[in-house]
Amino acid sequence: MQHPELPPQRQDSAVIRWQEIRTAVNRAAEDSGRNAENVTLIAVSKTYPMAAIVPVIAAGQRVFGENYVQEALEKWSGQRQTMPELELHMIGPLQSNKARDAVSLFDVIHTLDRPSLAAALASAFSKSERRPKLLVQVNTGEEPQKAGIAPSDLAAFLGLCRETHGLSIAGLTCIPPADEPPSPHFAFLRDLAKHHGLPLLSMGMSADYEQAIMLGATHVRIGSAIFGARG
Ligand SMILES: *Cc1c(COP(=O)(O)O)cnc(C)c1O
Repeated sequence: MQHPELPPQRQDSAVIRWQEIRTAVNRAAEDSGRNAENVTLIAVSKTYPMAAIVPVIAAGQRVFGENYVQEALEKWSGQRQTMPELELHMIGPLQSNKARDAVSLFDVIHTLDRPSLAAALASAFSKSERRPKLLVQVNTGEEPQKAGIAPSDLAAFLGLCRETHGLSIAGLTCIPPADEPPSPHFAFLRDLAKHHGLPLLSMGMSADYEQAIMLGATHVRIGSAIFGARG
């Protein structure tokens, strides 16, 4: 007979899912002949309250992704003070007027997607000692509504970042079109990064991270598969 007052599950459900995803990430890396240490799992914590995130930190996760600068500052500034090994990634669209705040908080910015933002980041760098790594977002599907540099403009944009603004670019990011198989986009991004000598590849989300890892992702961005569906 079921007892109506059974204690709640001892293990936090997000922690259980996080452990499963870590296992799957490591397996996908090993299956494709890669060292699992070269694939970073970014736990995307946007919209989830710190109370939902703390158990995952306690379990050992140190790398988190956020989409909104203001939300990220409110959630993470305090944690940063007590946990210097935290690594914070900006994965959402970045407004130029938030570039200074983003540089002050984040370790990696995945969404450098236009010339005006390159200028704003260069200006923020000139006023700060911090140097977050920068990834250029590429609109691999050439979708008109989606942010990112068109593939045919990438070479010129990388030149602008380096030569005009003195920014060094560490890698590329993509978000494939929702209605297409993602693998051709991941392979395309990998080839672009290789062509330009860029080591980091941010690609793969909850539904497709295993394919992304097979195709060379160094950073996968996983939210709902860890924290549950957003309300
Ligand atoms: C929200 C978001 C994610 C995580 O998406 P899930 O479907 O929750 O895994 C990954 N990448 C970007 C750019 C996002 O905005």
